[in-house]
Amino acid sequence: MNAIQVSRTGGPEVLELVELPDPEPSPGRIVVEVAAAGVNFIDTYQRSGLYPMDLPFVVGQEGAGTVVAVGEGVEGVQVGDVVAWTNVIGSYASVHSVPEEQAIRVPDGIDAETAAAVMLQGLTAEYLATSTFPLQPGHRCLIHAGAGGVGRLLIQIAKLRGAEVFATVGSPEKVEVARSAGADHVIDYREQSFVEAIEAIAGPKPLDVVYDGVGAATFEGGLRLLKPRGTMVTFGNASGPVEPVAPLTLMRAGSVFLTRPTLGDYIRDRAEYEERAARLFGWIADGSVEVLVGARYPLADAAEAHRALESRATTGKLLLIP
Ligand code: NDP
Repeated sequence: MNAIQVSRTGGPEVLELVELPDPEPSPGRIVVEVAAAGVNFIDTYQRSGLYPMDLPFVVGQEGAGTVVAVGEGVEGVQVGDVVAWTNVIGSYASVHSVPEEQAIRVPDGIDAETAAAVMLQGLTAEYLATSTFPLQPGHRCLIHAGAGGVGRLLIQIAKLRGAEVFATVGSPEKVEVARSAGADHVIDYREQSFVEAIEAIAGPKPLDVVYDGVGAATFEGGLRLLKPRGTMVTFGNASGPVEPVAPLTLMRAGSVFLTRPTLGDYIRDRAEYEERAARLFGWIADGSVEVLVGARYPLADAAEAHRALESRATTGKLLLIP
């Protein structure tokens, strides 16, 4: 099989196309011919060393494809089924070995590429909007990087739940991408201060919640916009990790709540994973959530995909096609 391996951490150039033996169907696992692997920001953190990994490793944790073999004890999945997964490292590959408990059967009517596009970013948007801070009609939220993978899905789910959505984006083209997802107010934060722009629309401290996947560059501004007892959800580091925060900072910001969630803690068991995936696929099937694949790259061009993602040149989801 072909795979994209990292044997030393660094920039996109450390992503190497290698040939490895096909995985055997080991107990409890299934072997999948990968139709598409999802590119996620976390892949860049693992490649660069921000999130340490044992070396060497095959990059990527999300994908979808057709089951070609099943190991001993596998009962819920058969050869020929189309499945999707997240949080299974080694997904930038033509063939992948996936634990049965991580595989979700892709519902009829949803193609493998769409499924690969939403397992990580879509489940993240789902848990952020329904569990971390369960949005209700009347809530005002801010979603940074609203034209990105998580951002564009989160805008749509926030609108489904009846919230008023402020979104930030980094270019005029991205303004349209976030607006087409349903955001009520879109601010190009490379052109103007998002704090001033939101205050001009909604007055001081108007927000119930900030969903911040950008991190270092936006965290403090977001705190200034929260209502007393509002919630700061810092869930990513696209511009670098947020510096440590003193508890007194949260008091001064208005007794606000701070959380730093990660997907693994919101799909803690099979039942929770299936429930969230079913809700997400339901929204896609009935047209409530539209999936935007911004670009598809051949597997061998993974480095190009990482360069594009890290240089803020992308919208929606990036896929690698083996
Ligand atoms: P995106 O498609 O959103 O790409 C990242 C975007 O961040 C860029 O397009 C850019 O949008 C914005 N950005 C702002 N500043 C920078 C910068 N200095 N360098 C690069 N990008 C910047 O990626 P994902 O949807 O994959 O991930 C979004 C965030 O969510 C990431 O931080 C990721 O780690 C996090 N995440 C967290 C999860 C969790 O469970 N905690 C799960 C999934 C993702 P613009 O040009 O509009 O500013």
